[in-house]
Amino acid sequence: MFILELSALQALIAALQARGYTVVAPTVRDGAITFDAISSMDELPRGWTDVQNPSHYSIARRSDDAYFGFNVGPHSWKKFLFPSRLRLFAATKAGKGFEIDASADGAPVHYAFLGVRSCELQAIALQDRVFRSGAYADTHYSRLRDNTLIVAVNCVHVGGTCFCASMNTGPHAETGYDLALTEVIADGVHHFVVETGSPKGEELLGDVPHQPAVDAEIAQVRSLWDTAAQQSGRTLDTRNLPQILNDNYEHPQWDDVAKRCLACANCTMVCPTCFCSTVEDSTDLSGEHAERWRRWDTCFTSDFTKVAGGNIRMSTRTRYRQWVTHKLCNWVEQFGKFGCVGCGRCITWCPAGIDITVEAAAIRGTSMTPTLG
Ligand code: SF4
Ligand code: SF4
Repeated sequence: MFILELSALQALIAALQARGYTVVAPTVRDGAITFDAISSMDELPRGWTDVQNPSHYSIARRSDDAYFGFNVGPHSWKKFLFPSRLRLFAATKAGKGFEIDASADGAPVHYAFLGVRSCELQAIALQDRVFRSGAYADTHYSRLRDNTLIVAVNCVHVGGTCFCASMNTGPHAETGYDLALTEVIADGVHHFVVETGSPKGEELLGDVPHQPAVDAEIAQVRSLWDTAAQQSGRTLDTRNLPQILNDNYEHPQWDDVAKRCLACANCTMVCPTCFCSTVEDSTDLSGEHAERWRRWDTCFTSDFTKVAGGNIRMSTRTRYRQWVTHKLCNWVEQFGKFGCVGCGRCITWCPAGIDITVEAAAIRGTSMTPTLG
C-alpha cells in the first residue's frame, strides 16, 4: 500500500490524460452526483454527500472536504460501456443498392473510470460475462471495455439503501481494478491510501507522487474498511434464495407488490447489471438513408414480451416477478452468481419505495413450501 497526498489526485488525472484516457468521475449535476468527463480534481463532489432512503435521494453538504464522501448515484458505469442509445449501422442508397456504414459513432473512446465502488466492479464483471464471453461477444462493448482503465474507491461508510455486504460484493474492492483508493480523513490527516491491482495500475502509479504506507497508516485504513463492513443496515438473506423463489411462483406477495408497482421501469434503468435492449430501424422521408439503433429496453413494458400470437407477460405482477426472479434465481442458474450486487439504486429510485430486500424477505418469511432458511 502507498500514500497519495491530496495534490497527487490531480497528478493522477493528468497521468491518465497524458495516456489518452477520457477521465470519467463523479461530479455534481442537477442536484445529484452523476458521472461525467472531468479534467480537474476540482470537478469532483468535494464536501458533498448523498442521503438515500426508499424513494428518496438528495445531496447535502458534509462537515469536511471529502472528495468521495458519498455512495452510488443515479448513473452507473454501464452508461459508458453499454450506452442507452447506440447506432449499429447506417445505410445510404447508392445506385441500385446501399452503402453500409457500420462504424458505431466514430473512434473508440479510451475511458478511465475514477471512483468505481466495489459493488460497481462486480456489476461490470457481470456485464463482462454477458457481453464479452461465449460465442457471441458484443463487439461494441468489448471494444470499449478492452480500452477501459479502472481506479476504484473503497466505501468507508455505507449508503442508506445499499446491502453489498450481504451480496459479498463490498464494501472493500477485492478485484477488478487497476488502482484502488481509500480516502482517509482522520486524526488531522487527509490523504489517499492506494493499492495496485494490475501491471497497468503499477505503471500508472509510477507517474504519480506517492510513498509507501507505514504500519500505522495500514492499520488505520484496515480499520475503516472493517467499520464500513459492519455498518450495513439493510441485508438480503441469500440462503437458498433461488430455490425459495422457484417454489413460490404463485405467492400472494407478487399480487401485493403489483398493487404498488407503477411499472415505470426506473429500477431497470438505474440497475448496473440490467442489460436488456431492443433494436429500432428508421428511414428519412426521402428513403435514401436508413439507420439501425440499439436502445436500452426493460422487462416492465408490454412491448418487451410481445410475440407473434400475443403477449407472454400481461400484468405488472408477472413483470415484477420476472425482474426479481431473473436477478435472484435464474441468473444463478445461468451464470452461477446473483444478478444483484446490492447497490441499492432500485430502492432509492423506485417512486413507490419498493425494496427488493423487503419483497424477498416477505416471500421467504411466508413461503408456500418448506425452506431451509
Ligand atoms: S437489483 Fe437493485 S440493488 Fe441489485 S444491482 Fe440492481 S439496482 Fe442494485
Ligand atoms: S418496482 Fe418501482 S421502479 Fe421498478 S417498475 Fe415498479 S414502481 Fe418502477
